[in-house]
Amino acid sequence: MRNDTPTATYQPVIGMEVHVELSTASKMFCRCSSDYFGQQPNTHTCPVCLGLPGALPVPNAKAIEGCIMIGLALDCEIALFSQFDRKHYFYPDLPKGYQISQYQHPFAQGGSIVLSGDKKIRIRRVHMEEDTGKLLHQGLGSRAVSLIDFNRSGVPLVEIVTEPDFENAGQVKEYLQKLQQIIRSLNVATANPDKGEMRFEPNISLRRAGETNLPHYKVEVKNINSFSFVERAIDYELKRQSSLLERGEAPVQETRGWDEKRHITLGQRSKEEAMDYRYFPEPDIPPFRWQPDEIEALRRGLPELPDEKKARFIRSYHIAAYDVDRLTRERRLADFFEEAVKVGQEYGLDPKTIANVVMNKKIDIDTTVPAELIKDIVASRSIGAIDEAELQSIVQAVIAGNPKAVEDYKRGKTNAVMFLVGASMRMLRGRASAEHVKGLIVAYLDAT
Ligand SMILES: [Zn+2]
Repeated sequence: MRNDTPTATYQPVIGMEVHVELSTASKMFCRCSSDYFGQQPNTHTCPVCLGLPGALPVPNAKAIEGCIMIGLALDCEIALFSQFDRKHYFYPDLPKGYQISQYQHPFAQGGSIVLSGDKKIRIRRVHMEEDTGKLLHQGLGSRAVSLIDFNRSGVPLVEIVTEPDFENAGQVKEYLQKLQQIIRSLNVATANPDKGEMRFEPNISLRRAGETNLPHYKVEVKNINSFSFVERAIDYELKRQSSLLERGEAPVQETRGWDEKRHITLGQRSKEEAMDYRYFPEPDIPPFRWQPDEIEALRRGLPELPDEKKARFIRSYHIAAYDVDRLTRERRLADFFEEAVKVGQEYGLDPKTIANVVMNKKIDIDTTVPAELIKDIVASRSIGAIDEAELQSIVQAVIAGNPKAVEDYKRGKTNAVMFLVGASMRMLRGRASAEHVKGLIVAYLDAT
């Protein structure tokens, strides 16, 4: 019986290319709206993105900034000299006959993402290009036709290419999730794979265990649009290739497509070599010469990145790494949690309690306001139902136990009252609001 997992004889060598559409207002080289999803076909077009003769491209500064920010967030070197190139090929969704992309001088090179277990994935390059139009194959009356929608043509696209550092599909999935998190944290793209805003092309080959040279072939699987399909496509390819190798056959260098229904890959065409594209510098767009301080300004402007956020959550909220992972997976959820913690403090609720509720109760953060959530938690624990006599006695005990703070307050340091409120809240464990407790303490101090 053949082993289903890659055998001890062969080791997977996997690299990733990821395309991400940036959420800019306009397209990469024209002023058409880039918000094409779900719009009427061919309503977001102009001579530039239709590739009409004589139309000249004007680069979108916001998109280039987004591309460089992604490069910086991935720890890349930002080149001080960069340029666009023409990548030639013929396809009906590419009316110019070439795509404006970057070849020799991309905006960013040589970064990395570190996965769990300190597994480092090297980023080869991060470059900017334009998206193509979209072919729709459908029936028209009794005929099968192919239609073209150019709304997507010219939408800003960032391509992120890794070195072939992955050893299995699990690492690829972790990388993709991390990459998506980083990109979303930068607010430059929504990166939803199911809307085609993030697309994946793994390249997969096998080499003999212990071999250090790269295999003589690689198989690229095109345009996959879900994390789990990437995993399946890789596992399928590893099995297919290892059974070929075990029969003594050499897998061929080729591009394959992913069949979503049958969960298999299918041969499409043999892979083009780079020279087939006849790359040359885009003559209509001058090269970019960046000043180091322009790049530094972008670096300083980067928001808190997911790894930094995780470390801070563990440090300041004392919640377990596993929970922090879940809370910081999406920036909006992390922001919601932090807001709830702030409100919760007034009720003496600790972050851990709030984290548990946020994660286990499946709170809809689109419709819930953090303050309401806290009120619900307080109500559900019948917090606030403390009787006034018990509250008074706790407050008085705290005042009696902290003569120094009382003295400070009487000498005019009004802030000292917050120390007494904090001490009372800890004893009350959330059964009264900080506002109410503060009122009681001030009244008591002012009366004695
Ligand atoms: Zn246009």
